[in-house]
Amino acid sequence: MSVKVVEAKKYSVKSLERLIGSAVKELGLDLQNRTKRTAVLKPNIVIPAKPSSAIITHPAVVEATISVLEENGFETRNITIAEGSGLGADESRVFEVSGYSELAARKGVNLVNLNSLNNSLNNSLNNSLKKAERTELRWKYGVLKIPKIVLDADLYVNLPKMKTHGQTVVTLSMKNQKGLLLNSDKKRFHNLGLHEPLVELAKVVKPDLVVVDGVEGMEGEGPLNGKKKRVGVLVLGTNLLEVDTACCEIMGVKPESVEHIRAGRKQKIGPAKLNLFGVKVKEEKEEGGVKKKFKQANKKYGNILNVYSWRNPYACSMCIDSFSLAVKTGVRSPKYWLRFVPRFSYYALFKRLDVIQGKHAKIPEQHGKVICLGDCTREIAKKNNLTHIKGCPPNPHDILEALSK
Ligand code: SF4
Repeated sequence: MSVKVVEAKKYSVKSLERLIGSAVKELGLDLQNRTKRTAVLKPNIVIPAKPSSAIITHPAVVEATISVLEENGFETRNITIAEGSGLGADESRVFEVSGYSELAARKGVNLVNLNSLNNSLNNSLNNSLKKAERTELRWKYGVLKIPKIVLDADLYVNLPKMKTHGQTVVTLSMKNQKGLLLNSDKKRFHNLGLHEPLVELAKVVKPDLVVVDGVEGMEGEGPLNGKKKRVGVLVLGTNLLEVDTACCEIMGVKPESVEHIRAGRKQKIGPAKLNLFGVKVKEEKEEGGVKKKFKQANKKYGNILNVYSWRNPYACSMCIDSFSLAVKTGVRSPKYWLRFVPRFSYYALFKRLDVIQGKHAKIPEQHGKVICLGDCTREIAKKNNLTHIKGCPPNPHDILEALSK
């Protein structure tokens, strides 16, 4: 096993295609001798976001990968882009806003919404509806339902974005696989503690190829609220742990500080020694150095002014994303201007709000008004007589109503 790091300064499909094509050969991956020549590509499209936001895998990287497959005899009708976006994301807009609907229609590949149990978004060229059927796999925690198309494909390509993450330090190929799960299993993942389940998932679902979009990454309060970071690389490999470790080196993150990487090493899901080739992973100040120090997310909380959201590995990110969406909606909708905005601004500027979420949530030592988000915090809210907003994840309108009172 080995990892190749290639310099890729911009999202030019032609040059990305050339880089991916030659890296695949150097990795020794034989694309020609595939019996069925069916492929599933799994980018990270966690929410409806534009490619320029650096929140999602840029469609140009996926398009270049499709072209490499075409060169190797894969027909586009046998290639599928599949993603199950984050809990609570607006499903109807995910593929449109991100540019993937347009890409699928133009290239004639299938586009499957893995969150939709009985149907898929089909492209305009291929008008047949396909099911995102699931196959049951046994894993450490019982049974896991994985999309059949991924398990049946001749080639499964995992295409994550290079980002920091408030709960897992980084989000790369191991974390990207969470998008393969049903929403109920995504929630269960958090209830099981997130890090160990990521390792267990990596044991039962293994990609043939990983292509990390590090042309532009995201640093700071990722996976959604960080800043764009230009890195100028693609990282390719065949082992999840090895690729993620290499990305950490590039991002200036100690791999051992990432709990799921530490657990993966302990369980030997990747090689003991990192075998890197391609451009040297040297410090940025050195000639040709590709290392870029990523600012990490605050480990305990994220805050804007005096509004603190407390991190908890047992909490799904979509609980707090619903809260962010509620605030954005409140600020933009005139109907909330009189009720919500003055009250929220008062707390944000002159007082303090502390939002807690997830199973085992704790009340912070120092706090202002505590808001308990989601069904997981029902008990703690009841016991301490705190404001509770129900839902799993809570509905942004319920959050707005609660904050307007
Ligand atoms: S309430 Fe929130 S944290 Fe708890 S399972 Fe539901 S979405 Fe996840």
